[in-house]
Amino acid sequence: MTATAISLVDVTKAYNGRTVVDRFSFFVKAGECFGLLGPNGAGKSTITRMVLGMTPPDVGKITVLGAPVPAQARLARAGIGVVPQFDDLDQEFTVRENLLVFGRYFNMSTRQIEAVIPSLLEFARLEGKADARAAELSGGMRRRLMLARALINDPQLLILDEPTTGLDPHARHLIWERLRSLLGRGKTILLTTHFMEEAERLCDRLCVLEEGRKIAEGRPQALIDEQIGCQVIEVSGGNPYELRALMNGCAQRIEVSGETLFCYSSTPDQVRLQLRELSDLRLLQRPPNLEDVFLRLTGREMKE
Ligand code: ADP
Repeated sequence: MTATAISLVDVTKAYNGRTVVDRFSFFVKAGECFGLLGPNGAGKSTITRMVLGMTPPDVGKITVLGAPVPAQARLARAGIGVVPQFDDLDQEFTVRENLLVFGRYFNMSTRQIEAVIPSLLEFARLEGKADARAAELSGGMRRRLMLARALINDPQLLILDEPTTGLDPHARHLIWERLRSLLGRGKTILLTTHFMEEAERLCDRLCVLEEGRKIAEGRPQALIDEQIGCQVIEVSGGNPYELRALMNGCAQRIEVSGETLFCYSSTPDQVRLQLRELSDLRLLQRPPNLEDVFLRLTGREMKE
């Protein structure tokens, strides 16, 4: 196995004269979970399409599992499992049939595919569902079937585009747990997400993107410590600009986003004291997270 699963060096991509990925570089080590975190339109899917050789970069160098991409994308693809963002299962086919059809793309024989189906269904927590039509499954089950399908040829690298978008919290947690189990088996994961919680929970390292550019890179907790490093008090229910004036003395930094004021302070008790006279305010004190990092770096929230 190569120690570097993916490397992008100074990759740029423009559509219709508009740069959507701008001199982007990162590398993913074998066995780690690496995240591309950014709001919709930041360029995450374009980067994954370039990694898969589906879109050529205008400039730059991409290597995946030791193969130059797009020149030898077919070679790289043999070791990659992909879970796309949108459900592309054959809805009228059963779970088993979906796996059979997919396995044939990898030139596997029916016998070979049948041999791996039980363990894939067990992995995806879909035991007993082999003969259910995909259309009958819940959203979470369908996403787990897509994950099982991506594993059919036992790839060493998985590329997941927004793996839990549209799922309820329970289904999302189950996917996270399954992905951690894959990491435990030594798989490498590249995932795109706009959920900071997902990135924080799963990623060993990540890049934060905005408008095609990398604005931060590192381990989630290190980024949070470096960029924020103190408690956060979210204040809502008042005029955030008036509140900002009131709190200037007791906070390291204050950001306003919509109707919420984010107060970053290593003396949160003082902030609370300052606000105690004001009624109708809602206060939430919490540890800092990647959302705060994004707000600090861009001046806006990542959440939709
Ligand atoms: P993300 O995955 O972060 O939501 P995308 O990579 O899908 O972002 O898109 C980045 C930008 O590139 C967006 O502004 C999008 O409209 C544009 N874009 C993506 N694909 C194409 C395409 N095939 N043609 C033109 N513009 C595109």
